[in-house]
Amino acid sequence: MAEQSASESQGRSVLVTGGNRGIGLAIAEAFLAAGDRVAVTSRSGEGGPEGALTVAADVTDAASVDAAFRQVEEAHGPVEVLVANAGITNDQLLLRMSEEDFTSVVDTNLTGSFRVVQRATKGMMRLKRGRIVLVSSVVGLLGSPGQVNYAASKSGLVGMARSITRELGARGVTANVVAPGYIDTEMTQALDDDLKAQYKKSIPAGRFAEPTEVAGVVRWLASDEAAYVSGAVIPVDGGLGMGH
Ligand code: NDP
Repeated sequence: MAEQSASESQGRSVLVTGGNRGIGLAIAEAFLAAGDRVAVTSRSGEGGPEGALTVAADVTDAASVDAAFRQVEEAHGPVEVLVANAGITNDQLLLRMSEEDFTSVVDTNLTGSFRVVQRATKGMMRLKRGRIVLVSSVVGLLGSPGQVNYAASKSGLVGMARSITRELGARGVTANVVAPGYIDTEMTQALDDDLKAQYKKSIPAGRFAEPTEVAGVVRWLASDEAAYVSGAVIPVDGGLGMGH
C-alpha cells in the first residue's frame, strides 16, 4: 500500500488508447490534472491533450501496439495505468450483419483490448502493481437492436477483467470495467435527433452525460482509494442499465 501511495503521489505512467477525442480525451485530461505522466494513442499519432505524449497505434495490429508501448516506456517508464478505451460501432440488424461487420467490431473493441492489456501486464507484473480499466458500455449487458457485434464485444470485456483479476489480483494488479450509457461524443452525435430524444426518455437521469463524468470514475478506479476494487462493473449511465 505504501508503495502504491508513493507511486500515485509522484505521478504515474498512464496510457489511454483512443485518447485523442471523446471519452478517451476527457480521461487523459483527468489524469494530467492529477499530475500523472500521460500518453494517448490515436491511429494517426496526432491529437490528444496538451501535456500528453501522443503515439500512433492501431489496436487491431499487435506490432503497432508493441511499438507504441516501446515509445511510452522510453518516455514515461512502464505503463502503470492502462485505460483500454479505443472502440468503434458498426450497427446493422442481425439478419443484415455480415461476418466482417461482426468480426471487425470485435477485433477493435475486444481483441484490441486484449492486445493492449497483454502488452501492459508484462511491465505491471514486474512492478507488482497496476491498474487496468476497460471501457465497456451499458449495451454490453442490456443489449441493443442493431448492435449484436458491439454488445458482444463489450460484454466480453467483463469476462476479461474478471479473469485478469483472478490471474493477477495477488500481484497488485486490478482490472475493472466502466460501462457508460449515452455520452455526448462523436459516436453519439452520429445518431439522428428522434432516436436521441427516444433514448433520453428511457434514461432515468433524462440526459446524456459529458465525457468528464466517465473520466472521473476511471480516474477513481485507478487511484489508491480503489486498491481493493477489482473485477467490478461500474455503470456511468444515469440509471439506464439498473439491474445488471
Ligand atoms: P469516439 O468515436 O469519439 O472515439 C473513438 C476513439 O477510439 C478514437 O480515439 C479513435 O481513434 C479510437 N479508435 C477507434 N478504432 C481504433 C483502432 N483500431 N485503433 C486505435 N484506436 C482506435 O468514441 P467515444 O469517445 O464515444 O467512445 C470511447 C469508448 O467509449 C469506446 O470504446 C466506446 O465504445 C465507449 N462508449 C461510448 C459511449 C458513448 O455514448 N459515446 C457509450 C458507451 C461506451 P482515431 O481518432 O484514430 O479514430
